[in-house]
Amino acid sequence: MKYVSTRGEAPILAFDDVLLTGLARDGGLYMPESWPQISTDEITRLAGLSYTDLAFRVIQPFVGGAIADTDLKRIIDDAYRHFDTEEVAPLTELGNGEWMMELFHGPTLAFKDVAMQFLGPLFDHVLAARGERICIAGATSGDTGSAAIEACRDRDNIDIFILYPHGRVSDVQRRQMSTVTAPNVHTIALQGTFDDCQDTVKALFNDLAFRDRMNLSAVNSINWARIVAQIVYYFWAALKVGGPARPVSFAVPTGNFGNVFAGYAAHRMGLPVEQFIVGSNANDILARFFESGAMAIDTVVPTISPSMDIQISSNFERLLFELYDRDGARVARTLNTFRSDGQFAVDAGMLARARKIFDGGRYTDDQTRALIADHYAKTGELLDPHTAVGLAVGRTHRRDTSTSMVTLATAHPAKFPDAVRAACGVNPDLPTHMADLFDRDERINALPNDLAIVRSFIEDRAQVIRSSGGAAA
Ligand SMILES: *Cc1c(COP(=O)(O)O)cnc(C)c1O
Repeated sequence: MKYVSTRGEAPILAFDDVLLTGLARDGGLYMPESWPQISTDEITRLAGLSYTDLAFRVIQPFVGGAIADTDLKRIIDDAYRHFDTEEVAPLTELGNGEWMMELFHGPTLAFKDVAMQFLGPLFDHVLAARGERICIAGATSGDTGSAAIEACRDRDNIDIFILYPHGRVSDVQRRQMSTVTAPNVHTIALQGTFDDCQDTVKALFNDLAFRDRMNLSAVNSINWARIVAQIVYYFWAALKVGGPARPVSFAVPTGNFGNVFAGYAAHRMGLPVEQFIVGSNANDILARFFESGAMAIDTVVPTISPSMDIQISSNFERLLFELYDRDGARVARTLNTFRSDGQFAVDAGMLARARKIFDGGRYTDDQTRALIADHYAKTGELLDPHTAVGLAVGRTHRRDTSTSMVTLATAHPAKFPDAVRAACGVNPDLPTHMADLFDRDERINALPNDLAIVRSFIEDRAQVIRSSGGAAA
C-alpha cells in the first residue's frame, strides 16, 4: 500500500514513512492510494474475533508489507494491554435500538488512547528498525498531551516534550501529565496561554537547524496511523449490533473530524453504514456545512465540551479529497481560498453526495447539561459532555429508528467532573486504576514564555541524538 497527498504534489510514500512524516510536504494529508476491500461475507466471519485479532485484520492491508505480520501482531497486542478491559471498546444497549460504545477504557480515559497507544509501540518498532531516535514536541490544552505521554513513556527511541498552559488545564488533566515519572517524558508548564504553547511549538519546528538536530516529530491528529487504529472499532461495533447483515448508524461527537473520518474509511472498505451523525457544540462549523454546503469560519466559543471547541477540522480535508474524486489540485485551491477568505462552498451535487451518508447537528451547553441530568435520572449512568452531545444529535438526526444507532462515548465522565457535577449534582468517580491520581507526586517544570529558554530546556533533557536522514516532520 502506498500513500498519496490530498494536495497531489508530495512524494508518494509507504506506511512507515507516512507515520514519521505526518503532514505532507505540499501541506496536504496522506491518504491510501486505494481502499482495501473486505467483503460482506468476510466481515460476517470476523464476528468471533477478539478486539486485537480484528485490529490485525483491519490494519494489516494498510501497512502493506512495511512491517512484518508477526511484528504488527506484537505491536497491536502491546497497544491494547493497557486498557482496563480485554474488549477494549465495550458496547452497552440503551434501548430503542440505541447503543453506546465506550472508547474511554485506556490509560487517560479518552478515546484518543485507542490510537495513541497503537502509535507508541509502532514508532518504537519503526525507529529501532531504522536506527533512529526522535524527539516529539507538542502543545496541549489537556487531552491530547496526556494520551501522547502515556503512549510514549519508557519508549527506547523517543523523547517527548509536552507544553501546556500553566494553571489553565484541569487538575485531572495536569496530574495525568505531571505524575508520569518515566525518564523520557518531559512536561513544560508554560507561563502563558494555550496559543502561546502552540506558537512556541511552531517556532521550534520552524527553527530548521534545531528541528534537524533534535529529529523533531509530532503526533497530531492528522497522522494517518491514528486514523487506521480508529477504523477498527467501527467494524467491532457493527458486528456487535447486527452488522454487516443490516447497516448501522453512528453518532460521533466531532472536533477535528478524525474519529468520524475513520468510520467513513470503514464504510469505504465495505462496512454497510446507513448514516454518520456528526455532533457539534456551539462551534458548529461542520453542522453548518452539512446543512448548506458552505464551510465558513467563526470565532471559537469555549464550551463544556472543550475537546470539540474547534473551528478548523483538519481531517475534513480527507473527505473533501474523496468528494472531489481525488483531484489534489482542486483540494489545494479550495483550501487556499478557505485560508484567505475564511470560507468556501461546494456545489449542490457535491453536497448531495456528502449528505447521502453524513448529517450534522449542534447542541448547546444548556441542552447538554439537561441531557446529562435526564440520562442520569433515567438510567443511573453518567455521561461526559462530549458523549452527551453525540447522543443528543444522534437522537435528533436519526433517519430510521429501525436501524441500530451506536453513539461513540469519547471520554469517561470523571475526565470532566466539574461539568458533570454542574449538570446533575453527582461527582463522577475516577476508575480504580486511577483512583490514587491525587496522591501521586507531581513534577512540574514551570518555564517563562520564552522560546530560547524552552529550547535550551529541551536540548538539556533530550537523550543522545543521532543524526539521521531527515525523518523529522
Ligand atoms: C478529541 C476529542 C473529540 C473530537 O474528536 P475528533 O477526532 O477531533 O473529531 C471528541 N471527544 C473527546 C472527549 C475528545 O478528546
